[in-house]
Amino acid sequence: MKKNDIAEVTIEDIGVNGEGIGKVNGYTLFIKDGIIGDRVTVKVMKAKKNYGYARLMKIIDPSPHRVTARCPVARQCGGCQIQEMAYDKQLGFKENKVTANLARIGGIDRQYLEKIMEPIIGMEEPFRYRNKAQFPIGRDKDGHAIAGFYAGRTHAIIENQDCFLGVKENERILKCLLQFADEFQLSVYDEETHIGLLRHVLIRTGFRTGEVMVCLVINGDALPHHEVLAGRLAALVNLESMTLSVNKEKGNVIMGNEIKLLYNKPYITDYIGEVKYRISPLSFYQINPVQTEKLYELALEYADLKGNEIVWDLYCGIGTISLFLARKARQVYGVEIIPDAIDDARVNAEINGIDNVDFFVGKAEEVLLRMCCEKQVRADVIVVDPPRKGCEEGLLATMVEMQPERIVYVSCDSATLARDVKYLCEHGYEMRRGRAVDQFAHTVHVETVCKLCRKNGDCKDS
Ligand code: SAH
Repeated sequence: MKKNDIAEVTIEDIGVNGEGIGKVNGYTLFIKDGIIGDRVTVKVMKAKKNYGYARLMKIIDPSPHRVTARCPVARQCGGCQIQEMAYDKQLGFKENKVTANLARIGGIDRQYLEKIMEPIIGMEEPFRYRNKAQFPIGRDKDGHAIAGFYAGRTHAIIENQDCFLGVKENERILKCLLQFADEFQLSVYDEETHIGLLRHVLIRTGFRTGEVMVCLVINGDALPHHEVLAGRLAALVNLESMTLSVNKEKGNVIMGNEIKLLYNKPYITDYIGEVKYRISPLSFYQINPVQTEKLYELALEYADLKGNEIVWDLYCGIGTISLFLARKARQVYGVEIIPDAIDDARVNAEINGIDNVDFFVGKAEEVLLRMCCEKQVRADVIVVDPPRKGCEEGLLATMVEMQPERIVYVSCDSATLARDVKYLCEHGYEMRRGRAVDQFAHTVHVETVCKLCRKNGDCKDS
C-alpha cells in the first residue's frame, strides 16, 4: 500500500494506544478511532514497508462495541483516545494490556497470571471523574481568548470549555477568565514567538470539600487586575485558592517552579477515605478521587499490615499512600523528589494526627540507599508508586538488598511495571497478586497494583 490509497478494512485488534488494527492483503494498518468489529473505509496517510497508518474516512458497518462519544470533540482532542468504545470493552482492553505486558515483558507465565490477576476495578460513573484540569489558553481568528485542549500530538488548541471528564464548574471558571482576559486586553502566550502573558490555567476541585483552586500559569511576573478576577471567581464558585505560576521558559512543561499567592490560601484541602490532604498547585495528587480510594485500599490490602511493620512508601507525593498505611503500621517512611510535596506531606501527617511517619526529600534511589547502607534502617514492606518511567535498576537492587517480606508496586504504566517485576522476580521475589484499577476512563491509561513476596518468606496470600 502507499500514501493516499483508499481501502476497506475490518478492525480486528487494538493497539496499545487504543488505535484500531486491521489488515489489507496481509498489510497491517493502524487506524485511529477504529473499534474492533468496525468495517471501515480508510485513507493511507503514511506507508512503511510492513505496516502503515491510515485515517478513518467512513464507517461502513459499525462494531457492536461502538458508542456515540458524549463529547463533540472526542476525536480531535488528544485527551480521550477510546471514548467511542463501550466502557466495558475499554475495561477489557486495559485488563488485557496489563496481563499481556506482565507476560511478554515481565516473563510471567500466562496461565499463572490468569490465576492470580483479579478483575479490573472499573468506575460506576465514567464521566466527570477528574478533580484537575489544565487548559492551554490561546486566541481565535477574531482575537478572542480561548481555552481548550491540545489536539493529539500537536499544540493546536481544540476549543472546549466543558470537558466531560472534568467537573461542570470548570466551564464557568473558564468563561469568567476568558472574558476577563478580553476585557483587560491581556495577551496570550504564543509558543513560537515566546511572547504573550497567559499560558495555562490549572483548576483543581476537592470532591469531598468542594474547595476550588485556580492557578494561572503566566509568562511574566504579575497578572494585572488579578483582584478583579479573584472577586468574580469567588462570587461564582467556592474559590479557596488563587495563585500564579511563573513560567518564563520555552518548551512544553506547563507549570513554572515559582508560585505566588493571589487570593486566600496557596492550597486546597480534600479527603480520600478518612484521611485529609492539603494540596498545593505543584504537588502531585491523583486526579480521580473515587477510584483513588479503591486503589489505596488495594495497596493497603496487598501490604497486609499487622501493625508491627516498618514500611517505606517510595515516590510518596504529598504522602497520600503513606498516611493510608500509617494507620496500620508501626512506622512509615515516605520519599519524594519535590520539596513542596514533602512540605504538604508533613502538614498532612500533622492535620490527621498521624505521628508514625517521616518524610524525606530526594531521589528514591539515593535516599533508600543511604538509609539502608549508612543508617541500617529496615523494611518489612516497600510500596513504590513511580512515574511512567518506572524505577531505576539501582533502586530495585537496594530494595532487594533490604529483603522486605512484601513489595507492593503501584504503577501507571504496565510496560515499565512488567520490566521492574521481571527484575524483582529474578532477584528473589515472586508475584502473588495483581489487579488493574481504571482511573482514567476513555483514555488508554490504567493503574495497576502488584503484590510481590519474598520467596521462602512468610508472606501469606488471602
Ligand atoms: N504516591 C503518590 C504519588 C505518585 S506519582 C500518590 O499516589 O499520590 C509519582 C511521584 O514520584 C511524583 O510525586 C513525583 O514527583 C515523584 N518522583 C519522580 N521521580 C522521583 C524520584 N526519582 N524519587 C522520588 N520521587 C520521585
